[in-house]
Amino acid sequence: MSPDRQHDGPVKRGVIVIGGVASGLVCAAECGKRGRSVLVLDHAKRPCSKVLISGGGRCNFTNLNVTGDHYLSANPHFCRSALARFTPRDMLALMEKHKVAYYEKEAGQLFCVKSSRELAAMLGRECAGAGVEIKLECGITGVRKEAGFIVATDQGTCISDSLVIATGSLSYPDLGASGFGHALARKFGLAVTELRPALVPFLFAKHDQKIFRGLAGISLDAAVACAGRRFRGNILFTHQGLSGPAILQASSYWEKETTIRIDLLPDRDLAALFASERRSKMELRTLLGRYFPRRFSETWCGLFVQSKPINQYSDKELRLIEEMLHSWELVPNGTEGYNRAEVTAGGVDTKGISSKTMEAKNVAGLYFIGEVLDVTGHLGGYNLHWAWASAHAAGEYA
Ligand SMILES: Cc1cc2nc3c(=O)[nH]c(=O)nc-3n(C[C@H](O)[C@H](O)[C@H](O)COP(=O)(O)OP(=O)(O)OC[C@H]3O[C@@H](n4cnc5c(N)ncnc54)[C@H](O)[C@@H]3O)c2cc1C
Repeated sequence: MSPDRQHDGPVKRGVIVIGGVASGLVCAAECGKRGRSVLVLDHAKRPCSKVLISGGGRCNFTNLNVTGDHYLSANPHFCRSALARFTPRDMLALMEKHKVAYYEKEAGQLFCVKSSRELAAMLGRECAGAGVEIKLECGITGVRKEAGFIVATDQGTCISDSLVIATGSLSYPDLGASGFGHALARKFGLAVTELRPALVPFLFAKHDQKIFRGLAGISLDAAVACAGRRFRGNILFTHQGLSGPAILQASSYWEKETTIRIDLLPDRDLAALFASERRSKMELRTLLGRYFPRRFSETWCGLFVQSKPINQYSDKELRLIEEMLHSWELVPNGTEGYNRAEVTAGGVDTKGISSKTMEAKNVAGLYFIGEVLDVTGHLGGYNLHWAWASAHAAGEYA
């Protein structure tokens, strides 16, 4: 009989972590290293599914430029303490210890050279080395607190002194995402801020879908402005709307009926270009073809302006074309929702959580880490870094 099982009674552990992917496994390993007995419970069939598919299978696991400014939260300062105590360098030290090769793709974004499987295996080894027990396909049927936490599951009841909630948020329900963490927070008297899909493609209104169908598959370097933020990067026309890094970033700030503005030629002074070509007999679509894929310039001219030689446009027409290209205004009809959102903006209100330990201020021993909290990173490795950093913070105390 296990020493932790009293007769046929519940399994007793120092720490139970619910959710065994990014934040859950790091926190479990940290607690185990402190000599705590740790049990991780997850209802998923396979471990680490989100890490495995992240970054297109190579996992953009951190970003060298991590600062608090890369996160959205009702309290933008909340994440700073944990980020300061677990930096990208700390994550790299872990990768190097396990000989997982990584590379910098762009602007500080670090990816696995081979596959995110290596990173998932690394987390597994860290947990095994710290004596962490992991139970998969384990449905949680109830949680209550008496002297300790009593977690009822479809595999029996477990008791612990500390309970860590690492169940992520609503994005990608196919991979096990659920609102469990939010519901549990509410049950224990904590507030949850408004939730919405983030880092998610936009949908065109039906009428625009028809208009832009011909552009599907085209990717352009652009700048997207939304709610006072501006993101530079690629945008991608899809059959339903717009995607691509700059669009995903803007989506995290988007609220219903907000206009987004897209600068389709962010590095070009179009006024100067038109002035220099003022007497030219070159057609507009040919001139724009210097900067855009041909299919785009032809379709765009077909949709918005009749292409003719530059010297045949009036100054007013050229100013209008300039404005249309530098400030294309669009009101998305919505987003592709949680099924396609990399993350969920909003979460457990950080007002009720200690930024040092991630412990609930009103319930001793109850911790929330990772995406379940109201801390949402920009695209580029910031969300996984938050998972590691918040897990590390809680792992020092849980
Ligand atoms: C397609 C995609 C690609 C991404 N790529 C990147 C990237 O490259 N870089 C980056 O920084 N971020 C990326 N992200 C975001 C990142 O994966 C998440 O922010 C991060 O995994 C959150 O970690 P977490 O530990 O909080 O939760 P998760 O990793 O979501 O883990 C939560 C776990 O809790 C379990 N769980 C949920 N509910 C229950 C329940 N009721 N009972 C038991 N278990 C439960 C789930 O099965 C899951 O295993 C990506 C996300 C997606 C969807």
